[in-house]
Amino acid sequence: MQRPGINPDNAEMSDFLCDFCRQEWTTAIPMVEGHHGSLICGSCLTIAYTEVFLLNLDAAPTGATCTLCLQEIDAPSWKSPEHECFVCKRCINHAASVLAKDPDFKWKKPSAAK
Ligand SMILES: [Zn+2]
Ligand SMILES: [Zn+2]
Repeated sequence: MQRPGINPDNAEMSDFLCDFCRQEWTTAIPMVEGHHGSLICGSCLTIAYTEVFLLNLDAAPTGATCTLCLQEIDAPSWKSPEHECFVCKRCINHAASVLAKDPDFKWKKPSAAK
């Protein structure tokens, strides 16, 4: 998401925030974009991937909408602990594949719950 109230013609990288934890985007932080400028950062993605794929948790209520693909959620999904934002299993998987292939970051899919 963009920081509320910014001038879109003059937006800087730090004006873009992870939708799920509201962390600013910097060159040190991996981020994956969804629709309408939505973003999920690597640390949220690690938690989401762990909870949905490794622990089989499903946090979304019926009728919730995925923040990244804007579709109504019909599969297991993850909810931000801080905000009313959800991400579906498909988007978690897609974002994890994108980040895992990015050579600039050492992000890896979580393999086992701690
Ligand atoms: Zn985040
Ligand atoms: Zn989705």
